[in-house]
Amino acid sequence: MTGIRTTDLPIIAAALTLYSCSANLCSLTQSVSLSLNGEEPFCRICHEGLSAGDLLSPCECAGTLAMVHRVCLEHWLTASGTSHCELCHFEFALERLPKPFTEWLATPSMQRRTLCGDIICFLFITPLASLSGWLCVQGALDLYYSNGMEAFGLLMLTLALFTIYLFWTVVSLRYHVHLFKSWRETNPRVRLQTPRPAQTPQRQQNLALHFLFKDKGKETVV
Ligand SMILES: [Zn+2]
Ligand SMILES: [Zn+2]
Repeated sequence: MTGIRTTDLPIIAAALTLYSCSANLCSLTQSVSLSLNGEEPFCRICHEGLSAGDLLSPCECAGTLAMVHRVCLEHWLTASGTSHCELCHFEFALERLPKPFTEWLATPSMQRRTLCGDIICFLFITPLASLSGWLCVQGALDLYYSNGMEAFGLLMLTLALFTIYLFWTVVSLRYHVHLFKSWRETNPRVRLQTPRPAQTPQRQQNLALHFLFKDKGKETVV
C-alpha cells in the first residue's frame, strides 16, 4: 500500500470526523465512499444507486462490489438459501422469519390450484349436503309412523352423508395446513442484522479505514 500524502490529510480528517459523529454504519460508508471516489456508489446486485434505497457494505468485499441494497441482499440470500457472501465468504448475521399465509396463497403452484379447487368444492358441497340432510330428516319424520324402516334408512343415509362430508373437509383441511407449514419451514424470510451487535465498534472502524486506505489494485475480483 502506498504511503499517506499530506494532501490526503484533510480528506482523512473529514472522514474520521464523519465516523466519530455518526453511529449509523450505512450513512458512514456512503459518505466516505462518495468523498473518496467522487462517484455515486451502486448496488452490486441491481446496479441501482441511492435512489433505490440505502446502500450497505455488510461484508469484506471492496471496490465496486462493496455496496449492496439491504432488500437486494436479503432477496438473494432468501433465494440462494445461503448465509454468507458468495465472493468473500463473510458470514452474515441473519434472522429467519416465517413468511405470512398471504404470501403462500400468492405463490403460484399446483398446490395452490388444488387449494382453490377444494375451496370451490367446499362452497358447492356444503349447501348441497345441508339441503340433502334436511330433506332426508324431513322425510324420516314424515315416515316415522307409517314406515319405520324407511324412516330409519333415511336417517342412516343422512348420517352417512354428513360423515363423508366431515371426513372430506377435515382431511382436505389437514392436507393444506400441512402443505402451508412445510412451505413456511423451507421458505423463511431472511432479514439481515447489521451491524452485528458484538462487532459494531470494531467493524465500523474497520470499514472507515477500509474505504480510506483501500488499494484500488486489490479490489474484489468476481
Ligand atoms: Zn440493489
Ligand atoms: Zn463479500
